[in-house]
Amino acid sequence: MPHDDLIPPEQRIYGWIQQVFSQGVRRPGYPADRWAEQFCLERFHDFGLENVRLEPVELPYWEPRRWSLTVWGNGPGAVQMLDLACFPLPHSAPTPGLEARLVPFDAQAPERVKGSIALYELPLFRSRHAMLAGLATSWYDPDATFADSTQVLPFGREMQAVMEPAMAAGAAAFVGALTDYPSDSRDYYVPYDAVARPIPGVWISGSDGARLRQMLAAGPVHARLTVESVRETVSTHNVVGELPGGDDEVVIIGSHHDAPWSSAVEDASGIAMVLAQAEYWSRVSHQDRPHRLIFLLNSGHMAGGAGARAFIEAHQTELARTVLEVHLEHTANECVEEDGGLKPTGHPEARWWFTSRIPHLEAAVRAAIEEEDLRRSLVLPPTAFGPRPTTDGGDFHLAGVPIVNFLTAPFYLFDSQDTLDKIHRPSLVPVTRAAVRIIESTAGHTAAAMRAAVAS
Ligand SMILES: [Zn+2]
Repeated sequence: MPHDDLIPPEQRIYGWIQQVFSQGVRRPGYPADRWAEQFCLERFHDFGLENVRLEPVELPYWEPRRWSLTVWGNGPGAVQMLDLACFPLPHSAPTPGLEARLVPFDAQAPERVKGSIALYELPLFRSRHAMLAGLATSWYDPDATFADSTQVLPFGREMQAVMEPAMAAGAAAFVGALTDYPSDSRDYYVPYDAVARPIPGVWISGSDGARLRQMLAAGPVHARLTVESVRETVSTHNVVGELPGGDDEVVIIGSHHDAPWSSAVEDASGIAMVLAQAEYWSRVSHQDRPHRLIFLLNSGHMAGGAGARAFIEAHQTELARTVLEVHLEHTANECVEEDGGLKPTGHPEARWWFTSRIPHLEAAVRAAIEEEDLRRSLVLPPTAFGPRPTTDGGDFHLAGVPIVNFLTAPFYLFDSQDTLDKIHRPSLVPVTRAAVRIIESTAGHTAAAMRAAVAS
């Protein structure tokens, strides 16, 4: 049972989110991300954690400086020239000015884009909540909100491999149209695997994609693309602090401090939830902590998960005695398009709890969800969507560590529209309390016993 008086109040947790958000764009290695590292370090010191430290993580830094897209072709009755608003794909190639014919990408005849600028349509993936619930080991939705609703996910079917079909077909450049994207945005920070792509590429809005299709229907269209950007290796930091507990086995509690934009949900909210855990556990007595606790705010989620991977590589000995890794990401409002903007529906975005297939752990997660009334929750096996959970902590699962990774996946996760109004404030305290309950449930369990209990 959490000590009610020691749980940080909602206003305090939300205040941390506001502070982090207000620093600006927090991409890996940007000034706001460096600020976030120091902010997390200072909070860990304030809470009196032990072994507070920065662990270096090298990763590829990418910064777009200037970009433009101009197209021309036959409009209705006259030649038309348009400058389209766009945003470069992270880590795509720069170009001082590439001019070529714009050709729609057709999966049935990909060779048509060879040597051209491929116009590639990317609709976000939509999944019925009932289908997602079908992948869950259990779910908690007492209002039956999942019955006929659909979630818009932040990825297309291609996930991170959005440029690959056009690249494989020999395209000279990529123009991605975000078809049916709610609120018609183009600020889509994908891919974020930090892999350099050999051709330049930009995102445009779905409505501009539709204008291009009209021009293409009237005759050939040409385009000129310029992208000025910097890509270099930089050193960032994982921020780590510890608290001793009942034994020297370990529970890790983590999230990431970097982001695609100023990003309130992704993951100022994760930083704040880990700080809430660190503050809470620093205030309970040593004996009340079931194991040694390691708090981790890692870098480089938006650089292909570089920070979490670096931590795993550097801490193999601790991982062998890690009872549980809890990752906390994204306390988000569900939003829909209304009058061209985004409006919260009043519901939290569906909550995913990736949980290792350990029966007493699954039962503890389920109980915590019900006790804290965290509606719209799905307890998912780590492999629900593939070999690895779609979380920043997913690599801990691949490393054989028992996990509970909390995550919501609103479609605006990689978009500049991830602003403070997207935070589902009523979730902040209940998610904090649920995480405390889940960590408490590991008392008396060893890392070896947890691993032995994984259902095959
Ligand atoms: Zn995140």
